[in-house]
Amino acid sequence: ILTVDNLEKSYSSGSKQLKVLQDISFNVEEKETFAIVGPSGSGKTTLLGLCAGLDRPDSGEISICGTHLNPLDEDERAVLRNRKVGFVFQDFQLLPTLTALENVSVPLELQGERNASGAAKALLEKVGLGDRLHHYPSQLSGGEQQRVAVARAFSNRPSILFADEPTGNLDAETGEKVEQLLFELNRELGTTLVIVTHDMELAQKTQKILRLKGGKIIAKDISAT
Ligand code: ATP
Repeated sequence: ILTVDNLEKSYSSGSKQLKVLQDISFNVEEKETFAIVGPSGSGKTTLLGLCAGLDRPDSGEISICGTHLNPLDEDERAVLRNRKVGFVFQDFQLLPTLTALENVSVPLELQGERNASGAAKALLEKVGLGDRLHHYPSQLSGGEQQRVAVARAFSNRPSILFADEPTGNLDAETGEKVEQLLFELNRELGTTLVIVTHDMELAQKTQKILRLKGGKIIAKDISAT
């Protein structure tokens, strides 16, 4: 479902070019759970952004669901993301002026869903927030905000979900709940999960682990689970 071939990415800082990713190739299969781990600065977030089509590589190819990203312009990428991709950020990225319900329903409305509010309500009930529909993000705990973000990410029934440290800002117990929710949605809906994490315990729960160091792949492990 995701193919990454010979990816390279540099950032320019002043007159210098900083190589952030080199020689990155891997595949993620449909319905798989996949973790990307590595020390701080190893290029995990950059890689996730490239895979989700949020940024462009210097060279190399990425395809999602059989579609090559390189030839697509920004609008075409947005259409592909709306149809196929979900994203969960470490810092939730909810809109503060919208309620929990609106944070999930507004993107659905924009995509032309007729019963956006009903669909959003059903999703929020699924993540255990049926009694928090009209709360604003500031009135929700971190774990609740992240569950709204998960509901939003799943609202377009994505084929693949990218999550960047989805439990990074949460305490252990709350993080575990969000984690369980992601795996449950993977099992129920067959959504492929690609998770960037520092947390080896979380990574061990996925089927495959890609280890990055200094922008290079140092190992591709098949996990015991
Ligand atoms: P962390 O675990 O700390 O979030 P990471 O593995 O996700 O780190 P990235 O965020 O991908 O790492 O960053 C990789 C490297 O690229 C870092 O050295 C970072 O300083 C650099 N970098 C990231 N974004 C930019 C940018 N927009 N411009 C210049 N350098 C950048």
